[in-house]
Amino acid sequence: MRASKYLFCTVKEIPHNIDMTSHQLMLRSGMIRKTTSGIYTWLPTGLRVLKKIENIIREELNKIGAIEILMPILQPVNLWHTSERWYTYGKELLKVIDRNNNIHILGPTHEEVITYLIKKEIHSYKQLPLILYQVQTKFRDELRPRGGVMRSKEFLMKDAYSFHANLSSLKITYHKIHEIYSHIFQRIKLKFENIEANNGEMGGSISHEFHAFSHNGENKISFPNKLNYSSNSEKKDNIKQFYNIKKIKEKKNNPFLTPIKKPYYLNENYIKTILVKTNEKNKHQLAGLLIKNQDSINKHKVEKIDIIYKPLTLANKEEIYHLTQSNTESVGPIGLNIPLIADLSVINMKNFIIGANENGKYLKNINWGKDLPLPKIADIKKNKEEKNKLDKDNTVDVKRSIEIGHIFQLEQQYSKKINAYVLEPNGHKNFLYMGCYGIGITRIISAIIEQNHDHKGIIWNSEISPFQVAILPINLHKSTIVQEISEIIYNILKEKNIEVILDDRNIHPGVMFSEIELIGIPHSIIVSNRHIHDNHIEYKSRCDNKKKLIKIENIANFIIDEIKNTS
Ligand code: ATP
Ligand code: MG
Repeated sequence: MRASKYLFCTVKEIPHNIDMTSHQLMLRSGMIRKTTSGIYTWLPTGLRVLKKIENIIREELNKIGAIEILMPILQPVNLWHTSERWYTYGKELLKVIDRNNNIHILGPTHEEVITYLIKKEIHSYKQLPLILYQVQTKFRDELRPRGGVMRSKEFLMKDAYSFHANLSSLKITYHKIHEIYSHIFQRIKLKFENIEANNGEMGGSISHEFHAFSHNGENKISFPNKLNYSSNSEKKDNIKQFYNIKKIKEKKNNPFLTPIKKPYYLNENYIKTILVKTNEKNKHQLAGLLIKNQDSINKHKVEKIDIIYKPLTLANKEEIYHLTQSNTESVGPIGLNIPLIADLSVINMKNFIIGANENGKYLKNINWGKDLPLPKIADIKKNKEEKNKLDKDNTVDVKRSIEIGHIFQLEQQYSKKINAYVLEPNGHKNFLYMGCYGIGITRIISAIIEQNHDHKGIIWNSEISPFQVAILPINLHKSTIVQEISEIIYNILKEKNIEVILDDRNIHPGVMFSEIELIGIPHSIIVSNRHIHDNHIEYKSRCDNKKKLIKIENIANFIIDEIKNTS
């Protein structure tokens, strides 16, 4: 690409009233332009990045056998009646009316459309499992659009949906996609974490969110370092488990079952239920240990209890889910039908909080005898001395973050409503198990910029940069030799399929440098009379600002290596 033929749209001044760095930089570097609130045009520089990220996601999903489709943006309202989300989705749902007064939804997500498609197309379990995905524009009437494309009314999402004959098949695919998501985010060099999440409007059981760290993020996530399992090697995994504090959505009110409004697992009045394995003396495979939130179990004390398996072994996620249909943090003693052993310290507690055996939900104002019988009592917690030791690393770290992806095990939630099933050999309807998996493609770009910029502008890595290399000739229009060498290098790099922009505009070198730095092109080749006569040109890296003189004949190989090192 020649700069003289390209549409840069860069802006020198920092735009007013725009607080988020990524938003400022996307406007200044000419990636996007606001059309109206929450609605943006993608300019050439932005679009080049967008397409690259789309393709990385495609490549990774194709590797696990996912198949691309494209569903309509306009969705018939009757499907939303059938799924009942017409009544629950809320004000974010955008509607349009056609000439016959039919209402259509501008798709905020596509569970209804895809389940309807699958209902029509899939008739045998032999066609399953199936993963379909699309890269499609979504519409949500956000109350507060923010940060440019970080939270916009119209945005690009990759949404994938999987269909299965049974739950275990869904879980296998869910796990694969979980891994592929991590791989995608690593490939685009995002610093991120995944957290077990609240399901919001989507329903279903298990879900995970992926969050990119940024001090401008809308979410706060915490990771209590030693939440429950301070005495077990599984703890290492738990340290990595993050918990979403802020993003808890209100669900329909049930006076008894109270949706979490604050992190109850951090509350002093919370009694945690730790599920551990039992030995053959017990007919149940698990038992529940109840201790105060701020305490930890003492392995040796617990091992003395008759029915407990030795060495003390915590239930794994699958066992917990099988027994409680919930994740670790939401496990509670009511309705479990297994032996319960409470620490001495909890028997005097009143109006306490316990997990509700429903993800993200807790029961509060619980009292012994009234809401649940007093269980067996034992001394099972660590003593003070041990606890003090523990407190040192029992800190809760809170970081701000941007949600970049969300995956759900929807199970049969939509298939039952939309009547999507396969017939079993005995003629019974087997409603399909379903997972759905979203990545906010446009939001990812804001997140990458939040994490990769300096005072001069954006810093892209070579794989997603709008251009990999910029050739910056000094006084091109005055020097034939500069012109010739620039053209030669430009053509060589193009032949090697390197994405290169040659700045052939007649502009001041300072303006040219700062524009390329603002846009964030990782590699610059500066062609000037100063070094050409020694058969050298100057290379400058955007990442570390280091400069190097390179022999002209070596430049292509040098650049290829640098691109590899910075992809
Ligand atoms: P949020 O809580 O941030 O509104 P969400 O839970 O509504 O997100 P999902 O429905 O799970 O989001 O959508 C999948 C992904 O799409 C999100 O993880 C996010 O990256 C992206 N996304 C959601 N809403 C927007 C938006 N308004 N603008 C840009 N990207 C969005
Ligand atoms: Mg939302």
